[in-house]
Amino acid sequence: MRVRFWGVRGALATTEPGAQGVGGNTPCVEVRDERDALVVLDAGIGLYWLGRSLLAGPHGRGKGEVTVLLSHTHWDHIQGFPFFVPAYIAGNQVSIWGGVTPHLEDILEGQLNPIYSPIVSLANMGATIRVKQLETQEGAIAVGDLRISHARLHNGSHDCVGYRIEEGGRALCYVAEVQHAGGALDPAVVELARGADILIHEAYFTDEELAQGGRVGLAGPASPRSQGHSSYGQATDLALAAGARRLYYFYHHPDRDDAAIEALVAAQRDRVAARGAALEVDAAREGTELRI
Ligand SMILES: [Zn+2]
Repeated sequence: MRVRFWGVRGALATTEPGAQGVGGNTPCVEVRDERDALVVLDAGIGLYWLGRSLLAGPHGRGKGEVTVLLSHTHWDHIQGFPFFVPAYIAGNQVSIWGGVTPHLEDILEGQLNPIYSPIVSLANMGATIRVKQLETQEGAIAVGDLRISHARLHNGSHDCVGYRIEEGGRALCYVAEVQHAGGALDPAVVELARGADILIHEAYFTDEELAQGGRVGLAGPASPRSQGHSSYGQATDLALAAGARRLYYFYHHPDRDDAAIEALVAAQRDRVAARGAALEVDAAREGTELRI
């Protein structure tokens, strides 16, 4: 299995020069099986750049297939889809899976409403697009040699979906957003990440911000309230509890620059070492390619 980060930023994209080492695009992760079958985790702004990269291959000739797995439908997880160029090429097959939110297809159609977009409808995009609800799926989804299972996770005022993707005994776990209610790790997330070779887990807050209720944005008290997110320490604790091998902090706060993120990662490395654990931790960075 191969993995590439195309978008790692939470809430909204950032063009701040000091933040581009990690990257400024909202969530999008490319996953390939050993035979190149393609799954995409979330459709944030990073999906635009992934789409461009696909044009040199079968997706540029109307012979491509792609399965998009949505964690939920907040803007930052779907805003890249209207800009996903392979979805405009006739012959391409695009499957979009999501859950928790009823009427997923209506929501995706809604963001193309002429009030927001000149596209008007998914039907105008050109490719064959199928939108499917996870609730109707029994058992794991198969895409090529990838086996995909999911869990419903709590996230503040709404819920979202976490994914586990396996191939040949290797596992990737993706938790784009989650709130560990009351500070206790959500057992559903621990189970989903059990023994994962790679865990991608959000770390929108520092531990201090989370302790303050996570309600004050970094830009000050007048910022929009932010709830339903995790901290660096929680992501680390979850990876340790699940026995994951490698953890990537994901969904970086838009106000946090590269230096701040690196300092937070370094502190977590010290924490892991102090516990004598073998867990490897790093920040998810756009452009990073992983092999599992
Ligand atoms: Zn959200």
